[in-house]
Amino acid sequence: MSDDPLERLVPRMRPYAQSIFGTMGVLALRTASVNLGQGFPDTDGPVELQRIAIDEITSGRGNQYPPAHGQPALRAAISAHQREWYGLEYDPADEVVVGTGASEVIASALLGLLNEGDELLAFEPAFDIYAAQTALAGGIYRTVALGPGFRPDLEALAAAITPRTRLLLINTPHNPTGAVYTRAELDGIAKLAIEHDLIVLSDEVYEHLLFDDVTHLSIATLPGMRERTITFGSGGKSFSFTGWKVGWACAPRDLMAAVRVARQHLSYVSGGPFQQAIAAGLELPRDYFTGFAAELQDKRDYLLNGLRSIGLDPITPQGTYFIVSDVRPLGYDDGGDFAWGLPEKAGVACIPVSAFCQHRAEADHFVRWTFCKKYEVLDAAISRLQKTFS
Ligand SMILES: *Cc1c(COP(=O)(O)O)cnc(C)c1O
Repeated sequence: MSDDPLERLVPRMRPYAQSIFGTMGVLALRTASVNLGQGFPDTDGPVELQRIAIDEITSGRGNQYPPAHGQPALRAAISAHQREWYGLEYDPADEVVVGTGASEVIASALLGLLNEGDELLAFEPAFDIYAAQTALAGGIYRTVALGPGFRPDLEALAAAITPRTRLLLINTPHNPTGAVYTRAELDGIAKLAIEHDLIVLSDEVYEHLLFDDVTHLSIATLPGMRERTITFGSGGKSFSFTGWKVGWACAPRDLMAAVRVARQHLSYVSGGPFQQAIAAGLELPRDYFTGFAAELQDKRDYLLNGLRSIGLDPITPQGTYFIVSDVRPLGYDDGGDFAWGLPEKAGVACIPVSAFCQHRAEADHFVRWTFCKKYEVLDAAISRLQKTFS
């Protein structure tokens, strides 16, 4: 026996053996740190949605396999949501699918669309599942660094497209940087996708977590894009129920067929009672969504001020749960060294942005902090940081 615990793991998955959130979570626990690493809210979403899920269980309606591609009520609600917010039409019968979080639906798209050796191109830093799922699907994951201020660099993107590039993955509002792509940026991306006949995967799980009157633009609304775009959403992110794992995708019929075939052979179905509840969530009045974003914006500002108070100069995010900041003002050169040392040193955990990157780059100086936490939690983190760094 070798003492390599991963001896049996297929080589293509070796680079993805650890999830940064798991590893940092363990370190945070061991050091009793305030964890501003993993982005999940510590306040529950709407109580009326919880009641629906409970009632689905106690009435017995929701306790057996729901329909394969999602509860009809939820698929109808997703379709209505895309029409209401973006003016996009998707037929719930064959252009919408529900899965175990956006994560499973993204994996299904990769498994259903990537041929062996096909390339997926994404901007980095990028959410960590894209690389691992591309490897699972037998594809090749390639990245282009985001430009100054973590904005999309269209020239670099154009230069990175090869004859093997099949999928272009974008994420706006963007995890980890909080950037929300502008019309001009999305126009540029769309132009390249059309010119090179690429399929676009648009991860929009933070579509409703927007600040300062910024609007989210769905790339599928741009001319020539609906037919080549798969758009992903998440009930976890939009309604603060990340543990329910209800996510979805909308796409034209031909692309949706590929996603559905792959997905039905993964979990087949999941979370029937939660699906019914999220259907009701998508039908909530606009006030819910704007009120939720406003609350989150106040927390963003609270943490921004806290980080400034210790001498950091964080980038103000336009959306998401996250703030990124360069650690050099605190005398560190590398965000990884900073983040791995911080739990011991200050009793606070954050995530190095290098964990979202394949290549060493400017982003290595940055760390990511989440602010979707109660004020007392943010407060505890800020005072610990102040004690350590002021
Ligand atoms: C959280 C997250 C997901 C996954 O969403 P789930 O619905 O929890 O699976 C996908 N993409 C990004 C960018 C995320 O931050």
